[in-house]
Amino acid sequence: MNVPVPFVAIGRQYEEFREEILSAFDNISRSGIHVLGTYLERFEEQFAAYCETKYSIGVGNGSDALSYCLLAHDIGPGDEVITAPNSFVASAWTIANVGAKIVFADVREDFNIDPIKLEAAITSRTKAVMPVHLTGQIADMEAILDIADRYNLIVIEDAAQAVGAKQNGKRAGSFGHAGCFSLHPLKNLHVHGDGGVITTNDADVARKIKVIRNHGLVNRDECLLWGYNSRLDEIQAAIASIKLPHLDRLNQKHMNIAKIYHEALGECVSVPITHAGNQSVFHRYIIRSNDRDRLAAELATQGIQTKINYPIPLHLQKAAGDLGYSRGDFPVAEEQALQILSLPMHPYLSDEEVKAVIEGVKSVTTNK
Ligand SMILES: *Cc1c(COP(=O)(O)O)cnc(C)c1O
Repeated sequence: MNVPVPFVAIGRQYEEFREEILSAFDNISRSGIHVLGTYLERFEEQFAAYCETKYSIGVGNGSDALSYCLLAHDIGPGDEVITAPNSFVASAWTIANVGAKIVFADVREDFNIDPIKLEAAITSRTKAVMPVHLTGQIADMEAILDIADRYNLIVIEDAAQAVGAKQNGKRAGSFGHAGCFSLHPLKNLHVHGDGGVITTNDADVARKIKVIRNHGLVNRDECLLWGYNSRLDEIQAAIASIKLPHLDRLNQKHMNIAKIYHEALGECVSVPITHAGNQSVFHRYIIRSNDRDRLAAELATQGIQTKINYPIPLHLQKAAGDLGYSRGDFPVAEEQALQILSLPMHPYLSDEEVKAVIEGVKSVTTNK
């Protein structure tokens, strides 16, 4: 008999934190303060301390976090920003959203941007680089920071998938000029709706983002610039605060499951590569197979849900039509898009479910 395995199980996490969340909901509802209150302040302090940065600023979602970091560094029309073509669409549209030009550079076997390709994509108009820490593993920040230094570029980390990840002991979001996180329900640290948070060590940038997220207002009546409305509300901030002290333990579960998958599946499919010095939080556990579509279909018949993160590289999306790219421009990302398959990965997978995934993958890849 097959054990059905859901790709994610958000409801199981609610059970773990239910009492604390309900009590916070009650306190906030009774207080009548729903935005820009003490719960947000507390979460911002907590999150900055966790990432070992000086400041953190809560916003409405991870995409706004990226947009506001670009804006706060005066990036806009006439500027180019380099990112990876294999990410979630927000890594690209946020660049276009501030009026800058999206430039892609191909990735390496580990799914992260290739510093050599990144350097080759730099022009006189390049203002910033936005490495994505895809799947929960931090991109090669030593090489990227070295390039950024030499060409005087702003570095904005898209750490939406990598909250808590480390490279040589340092947390995601603490390497560049700013780090951007999503608190969307599918992310390792998530709230009950949309949410995002930014980290930085730059007091001016932190101040500017606080103005941008709140209509451009510096106080109740004075507007410094035309801004946006995108705050992390009190209820979401409270939920993030409740979960943050448990994040390392929850991420450790991701890592333990990744290790079990790794040891069991290394023989039959291509398993993810983790570089020395990196502690990936395995937001996604992505295997590669030349028979990916059949594998996914057979797993589905066994009740094992998988996903493809992501099937269409960004430069081949319709929305990217005016950028002038075509198939063949980023061969590594393009080949990976045909092979990748994300296996179920969340902290509440039971031993039985993990075993079912492994046996499912083995049953398909060894009975050809
Ligand atoms: C989720 C995600 C985002 C966007 O975050 P939202 O909160 O959904 O706006 C950006 N970049 C990457 C890599 C993501 O995975």
